[in-house]
Amino acid sequence: METPVARRDFLNGVAIAIGSTVAGGVLPDLVAAALADAAAQDAVGYYPPALTGLRGNHPGSFETAHALRDADFWPHAGAIAATGEDYDLVVVGGGISGLAAARFYRAKNPGARILILDNHDDVGGHAKRNEFSPGGRLELMNGGTLSIDSPRPYSAVADGLLKALGVDAAVLTKKCAEPNFYPSLGLARGIFFDRETFGADKLIAVKPGVAWRELLSDAPLSPRARRDIARIEEEKIDYLAGLSSDEKKKRLSRISYRDYLRDVVNADKAAIAFYQARTHGEWGVGIDAVSALDVWAFAFPGFQGLNLKPGSAPQMGYTAAGYADGGSYTFHFPDGNASIARLLVRDLIAESAPGKNAEDIVTARLDYARLDRPQSNVRIRLNATAVRVRHLGDPASAADVEIVYVRGGALASVRAKACVLACYNMIIPYLCPDLPEQQKAALRYASKIPLIYTSVALRNWRPFKALGIFHAHAPGSYFSSLSLNEVTDIGKYRSARSPDEPMLLRMVRVPVQPGLPERDQHRAGRLDILGTTFATYEDKIRDQLARILGPGGFNSGRDITAITVNRWPHGYAYEYNPLFDPDWPQGQEPHVIGRARFGRIAIANSDAGAAAYTDSAIDHAYRAVEELFGI
Ligand SMILES: Cc1cc2nc3c(=O)[nH]c(=O)nc-3n(C[C@H](O)[C@H](O)[C@H](O)COP(=O)(O)OP(=O)(O)OC[C@H]3O[C@@H](n4cnc5c(N)ncnc54)[C@H](O)[C@@H]3O)c2cc1C
Repeated sequence: METPVARRDFLNGVAIAIGSTVAGGVLPDLVAAALADAAAQDAVGYYPPALTGLRGNHPGSFETAHALRDADFWPHAGAIAATGEDYDLVVVGGGISGLAAARFYRAKNPGARILILDNHDDVGGHAKRNEFSPGGRLELMNGGTLSIDSPRPYSAVADGLLKALGVDAAVLTKKCAEPNFYPSLGLARGIFFDRETFGADKLIAVKPGVAWRELLSDAPLSPRARRDIARIEEEKIDYLAGLSSDEKKKRLSRISYRDYLRDVVNADKAAIAFYQARTHGEWGVGIDAVSALDVWAFAFPGFQGLNLKPGSAPQMGYTAAGYADGGSYTFHFPDGNASIARLLVRDLIAESAPGKNAEDIVTARLDYARLDRPQSNVRIRLNATAVRVRHLGDPASAADVEIVYVRGGALASVRAKACVLACYNMIIPYLCPDLPEQQKAALRYASKIPLIYTSVALRNWRPFKALGIFHAHAPGSYFSSLSLNEVTDIGKYRSARSPDEPMLLRMVRVPVQPGLPERDQHRAGRLDILGTTFATYEDKIRDQLARILGPGGFNSGRDITAITVNRWPHGYAYEYNPLFDPDWPQGQEPHVIGRARFGRIAIANSDAGAAAYTDSAIDHAYRAVEELFGI
């Protein structure tokens, strides 16, 4: 190991050193002790966005839920302390869906008393903010939810909420985003061939306009693999000649892209390895588990001679079908959609952050001590895992719901007239064992997609400039992509522009098991994530960056100043996969059966829409609240 990264962790204002051996579920005593007391979100210095080390589903956030799943919670649970708190609405889950549900509910009942519970130390769920301040300058990156961007146009409800918060994606894009900043400096996307997969380490810059034969001229590939990649990328060959466009689309929807390349295009093994991880970021699995038709919608190569009619087809997945028809507007806040979560928090609890518009929220400091105050109608209670949600009486007629949660190791209960479960689908059967069996089975069907977004703080980005890249795809490496932070100036926030300035780098890892059905790959990926220590992530990051950027002068001991590993074992909502899931009749899909209202309990979250997008999280918050008011 080279110079260790200084990982700052502040819990309750106390700086604690997180050892390199922090593992999911196995905490050094020091950290466990601090976390047990982490309920004190009111303490001076409590500021989770600046924490580094293992974040995302951080240690301390999931152990209670896992014990509940393993039937190992109630046998050891202590007495439940009744807080005496009585709310109009309790929301379980403080992600964008839960926060939006609170806002929709308050819009219908302005004086409503609302409590939001979340098991994390920060608000926002996947919409997580990573904050760094090298040399005193604020640098932001999204720890999860990256952008306002969806396969379908935002609904009137979701768009209306954004506009009410002051977010006009089209206007902000024009005013604040600089998507062509790096290309304007002559920097290109790169591809890194690793020696374990391809026989030698080699980075190539994919300069626009240069033929693939030339780009690959010194790549560690056989002449046949090079020829095949060039053919797939550039040549217009109709590999399915004789079929109509509809027939071709049907055929492509039934085979994976890997099988298409192998069996239809007749590509070399190394050429297939070259494309294997291309789908990781969007689908959370490799090309073995994504249909050829779905990747065609994303302009993957190899289809240019097929003359397919533009537009979606019935056999496509949600994301591919949407983008085939156009997609939504896009905008990236410097901390991703954490800005939307923080706008919602400020809207619900005005005194929680200064400012008044969608631009000043970016640099506003959230005052966590103001999130859960008795005098406020809306309260957000962090580090609180709900473990039981039940009607006090017959669900058909009960007037109240009781919500029990664990916080700081102790059990507490609150009552409410209604409850929105804006948490993950798969935990709901454990929270509400009284649900009908068919509904519980439907809620268990999906498997969220695990992935890791790592924010790496760099002293400068001269090596990128020297190598002529701003992004690298690494098909065989531990992290399959790395990219320099987006350039966005908004409000008082200014992005770094000079290669001599500190810069954040995003590295994405998707743990996969090629060859297994998609949901099995996700289950295996979750185990991989929870069994991997910070020390391993750090080793892999240093090794990979040294190998990719070393020729550009990078020194991992000198140039990495901090690392935040956002683990999302429960990441994207599961979207059905045409290769593995049945074609359910409309209305019979598991997410539709699973989201049915149960008495005074309604179900939100992006899982309820089987769509891993912020607009889905918002739309289902709205539906859940409407259902409650329809009682
Ligand atoms: C890495 C990553 C990148 C993404 N990028 C994008 C993107 O660019 N654009 C986009 O539109 N979408 C993106 N998404 C999808 C993202 O999931 C949604 O956009 C949205 O943020 C989901 O919000 P949510 O409130 O439905 O769920 P979540 O954000 O998951 O919030 C649910 C919350 O409930 C909590 N919870 C669960 N169980 C309990 C319990 N028992 N007690 C208390 N709390 C509980 C969870 O821990 C979580 O904090 C991304 C997701 C990930 C993981």
